[in-house]
Amino acid sequence: MSRPIHLPPILETLAELRDTLSEMRHAQKRIGFVPTMGALHEGHLSLVRASQAECGVTVVSIYVNPTQFGPHEDFSRYPRTLDFDLHALATCDRTPLLVFLPKNESMYPEGFSTWVEPGPVAEPWEGQIRPGHFRGVATVVLKLFNMVGPDIAYFGQKDYQQATLIRRMVDDLNLPVKIRVRPTVREPDGLAMSSRNRYLSPEDRQRALVLWKSLCLAKELVASGQRDAATIVAQMEDLIRTVPEARIDYVALVDPDTLASVAQVHGRTAALIAVKLGATRLIDNAVLDPTGI
Ligand code: AMP
Repeated sequence: MSRPIHLPPILETLAELRDTLSEMRHAQKRIGFVPTMGALHEGHLSLVRASQAECGVTVVSIYVNPTQFGPHEDFSRYPRTLDFDLHALATCDRTPLLVFLPKNESMYPEGFSTWVEPGPVAEPWEGQIRPGHFRGVATVVLKLFNMVGPDIAYFGQKDYQQATLIRRMVDDLNLPVKIRVRPTVREPDGLAMSSRNRYLSPEDRQRALVLWKSLCLAKELVASGQRDAATIVAQMEDLIRTVPEARIDYVALVDPDTLASVAQVHGRTAALIAVKLGATRLIDNAVLDPTGI
């Protein structure tokens, strides 16, 4: 006989959320937090499980944040799959889980006019191609932190620049939350899981493998002693160009904390890539470590 499915409780107002969490806090439970935009996949669930392994209660927020999308981006067609998401979360039943579904009216009430302006770490790469994106991300994440009051919040390395920016914001603004950044979860063939993968046609899904292949090439080049960043980037780009449909937004080797381009791979270095396939934009990254550790 199959086990009955218990969908996690849903909280829609800040008052409900705060009441429930204050009971948990009273019971000395550590609060873990996983902010998401829904359309959940194994990458999101790995964050939920990481939280459940060290926290007494986990809050998962599902909110497609309008302010982090540009006017010509995919906000209106971003997948919204609440029923599926709740069933996916029901499989994470190790410790109590709450789902927070904030409403637009409470996130951005009429007259809303206060923003988090992120610093230089938000300027290059995604920041340059998606102006205003990280301002929207930083603002919504700070608001969610203030609403949930988590002890620990979990983010994916998949969005490397975002995770770097959140760490910076937490340090800069003395936010009382610990940040954990968890490894990117991939499909068996290496494609990084993403809510946007579902937009890919079957042909583009195959072509998308070139992102992971180019990151593997970078790792191999570093392992074989190549240290010149321009040479590595050129070889990655050449590999991506073997797929004529793939349009490169950027390929970069950067300092893992400041995200400034590096000339040489001496210490840990992040390889960041963004590629468009059809109407879908994919990002991926890997940390290169010349010491091999
Ligand atoms: P999103 O719903 O795309 O805003 O993502 C919510 C969180 O899940 C972010 O911290 C992402 O970095 C993380 N995430 C997304 N995809 C993956 C993945 N493939 N592996 C690990 N974490 C991920």
